Amino acid sequence: MRRIYMDANATTPLLPEVFEAMRPYWMEHYGNASSIHQQGQQARGAVEQARGAVARFLHCLNSEIVFTSGGTESDNLALFGVLSNETAAHAHLITTTIEHHAVLHAAESLEKNKVEVTFLECTPQGLIEPAALKAAIRPNTRLVSIMFANNETGVIQPIAELAAIAHAAGALFHTDAVQASGKLPLDLSAEGPLKHVDLLTLSGHKIYAPKGIGALFVRRNVRLAPMLHGGTHERQRRAGTENVAGIVGLGRAAELAQAWLNSSEATGPGAPYLDSEMWASRDGATAPAHLPTPTELTALRDRFEQTILTQIEGTGVNGGNAPRVSNTSNLYFDHLEAEALVIALDLKGLSVSGGSACQSGAAEPSHVLTAMGLPPARARASVRFSLSRLTTQEEVDEALKIIPAAVARLRELSPAYQRREPQAV
Ligand code: PLP
Repeated sequence: MRRIYMDANATTPLLPEVFEAMRPYWMEHYGNASSIHQQGQQARGAVEQARGAVARFLHCLNSEIVFTSGGTESDNLALFGVLSNETAAHAHLITTTIEHHAVLHAAESLEKNKVEVTFLECTPQGLIEPAALKAAIRPNTRLVSIMFANNETGVIQPIAELAAIAHAAGALFHTDAVQASGKLPLDLSAEGPLKHVDLLTLSGHKIYAPKGIGALFVRRNVRLAPMLHGGTHERQRRAGTENVAGIVGLGRAAELAQAWLNSSEATGPGAPYLDSEMWASRDGATAPAHLPTPTELTALRDRFEQTILTQIEGTGVNGGNAPRVSNTSNLYFDHLEAEALVIALDLKGLSVSGGSACQSGAAEPSHVLTAMGLPPARARASVRFSLSRLTTQEEVDEALKIIPAAVARLRELSPAYQRREPQAV
């Protein structure tokens, strides 16, 4: 059975182009980037080249990029780096109830350390209103942390406006852009829309690089206390021998993501981000004949959603009226348990998720959907479909055959559905 992967928000496949860029840094170029001999300098060169690629991707300075082990570490470094020192006691942090746990749990930990924390509520569409941020600001607000795009719903926050409000009040602004990067252009330059963002989180494995590598953008002049104590790596902001191969992979993935975002026409083998020889080197796999451009991916996602909504009763899109990233579709299927549907689809070769990957297996309904005001039963009946840059038309067509059949079968077994009980509970 050929599997169909619709869980790109949990992790993306590693692109062969990224793998090929990394390979030499595990094998022949294994030097430590801090060593002064030639092998060390070769590794240092690769790290700095990748730093340049990530900086170009974000339109910032090379020195503003700190490599980390991933999104979780970058989020923690942003929050603890700004708020963990002695002067932070009784400082005020504003974040939201819909953040990833990497921010939510870091904020809760800071709260135990005498940082005052406000968790902003979202609208039923999953949006954080600028007016709500304005109202929550206090004289001692030191940091505002609001995610760019939500990992469960794909809903995009008005980050430029929110960051401007934080700056006007003299607070720093951090955004977790793990789910926005590679899906939306990110311009942190002094003239760009994100000029008021001081700290921004990236994770490699959401942009077709490996797991265990990420970056934090730290705007020049922002003082950050390190979380890890050790050597002077990363300009004393993150101690530890650099993950050279991972960093090279992140740099290459950033270049490919930018090429993809810029691609407006049909693409195929030979396009800048699709090297047919490299694909062939991957167990003889062939590069897909056609991959969706950003516009086509949106159309594919919209067609997917519309077909489900028209073919299956008792369905809807969570956050469907808010701006969303083009790959994500969070759908509820009333009278179903998401977990049962995820398993049924898995057995048919379709990989999707009941919420965020970190929550899979949790009995509690999603904190994001609950915060949006969904009744618990509807939150538990919600499934996230997240397409990738490698998703094809044919895969979507196949998924659209599998899903209605699986939903119908499960509903036949659902006494609540048979009685058509109202979903609001
Ligand atoms: N932030 C968001 C919005 C995410 O979706 C994730 C991963 O799912 C993370 C942070 C954590 O990133 P990582 O898995 O690299 O630690």
